[in-house]
Amino acid sequence: MAKCVMVLYPDPVNGYPPRYARDTVPAINGYPDGNTVPTPSAIDFTPGALLGCVSGALGLRKFFEDGGHELVVTSDKDGPDSEFERELPDADLVISQPFWPAYLTQERIAKARNLKLALTAGIGSDHVDLDAAKQHGVTVAEVTYSNSISVAEHTVMQILALVRNFIPSHRWAVEGGWNIADCVERAYDLEGMDVGLIAAGRIGRAVLRRLAPFDVKLHYTDTRRLPAEVEKQLDVTFHPDVESLVKSVDIVSIHSPLYEATRQMFNEKLLSTMRRGSYIVNTARGEETVPEAIAAALHSGQLAGYAGDVWYPQPPPPDHPWRTMPNNAMTPHVSGTTLSAQARYAAGTREILECFFAGKPIRDEYLIVAGGKLAGTGALSYQSSAAL
Ligand code: NDP
Repeated sequence: MAKCVMVLYPDPVNGYPPRYARDTVPAINGYPDGNTVPTPSAIDFTPGALLGCVSGALGLRKFFEDGGHELVVTSDKDGPDSEFERELPDADLVISQPFWPAYLTQERIAKARNLKLALTAGIGSDHVDLDAAKQHGVTVAEVTYSNSISVAEHTVMQILALVRNFIPSHRWAVEGGWNIADCVERAYDLEGMDVGLIAAGRIGRAVLRRLAPFDVKLHYTDTRRLPAEVEKQLDVTFHPDVESLVKSVDIVSIHSPLYEATRQMFNEKLLSTMRRGSYIVNTARGEETVPEAIAAALHSGQLAGYAGDVWYPQPPPPDHPWRTMPNNAMTPHVSGTTLSAQARYAAGTREILECFFAGKPIRDEYLIVAGGKLAGTGALSYQSSAAL
C-alpha cells in the first residue's frame, strides 16, 4: 500500500459544477511529433469534466481505492502548517500541477523520506528541486505534450488581445459605453509585425504554426536550431541569441524552460534593448522575467503590453505588481488546464501511475529525473545541471 498526496487547485467558489458549457470534448488521438496521447488501461472520468480541482481529484479516487492505497487530496500547500507539509513525511508519491504548484524544495524532499515519485500532472517540473530529487533517488515525471497545444492557443489569443487592445474594448462594451476612440487608440493589426519566439520546442513550434497564417514575419532563437526544412516550411528566421532576437521584433513570446540560463532573462537591461512599444507574452514561467522591470517598462511605455499566465509565486500575493500594471492582459495560470487538457493529463497521470505500481518503465518522454539523473525529456529540456 502506498500513500499519495495530491495537491490540486481549490474547487470553484460556487462549488463543483453540476453541468458544463458543452457536453463533450473532441477526441485527440496523437501529437504532432507522432506520439500517442496517454494510454492508461482505463479511465474513471468523463472527458470534459473538471478534474484539476480538489473534488475532481484527477479522476483518480477510484483507482487509488481499488489499489488499496491511501490518497490525500488538498489545496493547502504553502507554509509549515499546511496540510501538504503535514502529510509529506510518509508520502510515497506526490502529484501536483504547475497551475497550483506544490513546491518540492530541497528541505521538503529531505523530509519526505519515503518519496519515490513526484508526478507533475501537466508539463514543467521546475516546482520540484531537481537536484534534490536526483540526490534522494526520487523519480520526477510529467505528462509531456498533454497541454502543449492548449498553451499555444492561449498564447495566440493573448498576442491578439494585446495588439488589438481587446480587454479595454470589452470593458467599454460591458460597462455600457460605445467609446470607439478610447478602444482603438492602442489597437493595431498583427499583420506585418515581427514576432519572435524564445524557444521552438513543442509549444513554440505549435505557436509558430498557428501564427504563420496571420502573415507576420516569424523569428526564433533556441539552443538547438530547427532543421533547415522546418525553418523553410514555417518561413522563420533564426537568431543566435535572445539579445539579437528581441531587438528585431515587435512581439516576443517566451517558451523556454526555467533553469539557470533563463532565470530573470527579461531584466531591465534586456527590456531596454527592445523596440519601443514591444509586446511580451509569457506562458513559460514567471521567473524568466524580473516582475518589477516588466511593470516599469509598461509604465514608461517601453513595453506596449504584457500578457501571459505564469507568475511567481503561485498564487501571487494581492500586491503583486502584475495585478495592477497598465496594459496587461494577464490571466491566472490557466492556459494548460482547459477541460480538454485536463482529460489528457489526468489520463497521462494514470498511465504513469499504472507503470509505477506495476514496476514497468514509464515512457521515456514522460521522464524528467530517474535513477539519480536527468532523464528522457528532462535531459533535453533542463540541460544544465543547475536546473531548478
Ligand atoms: P520543450 O522541452 O518541448 O521545448 C523547450 C525548448 O526550449 C527546447 O527546444 C529547448 O531547446 C529550448 N531551450 C532550452 N533552453 C533554452 C534557452 N536558454 N534559450 C532558448 N531556448 C531554450 O518544452 P515545451 O515547449 O513543452 O514547454 C516549454 C515550457 O513551457 C515548459 O518548460 C514550461 O515551463 C512551460 N509550460 C507552460 C504551461 C502553461 O500552462 N503555461 C504548460 C506547459 C508548459 P533544446 O531542445 O536544445 O533543449
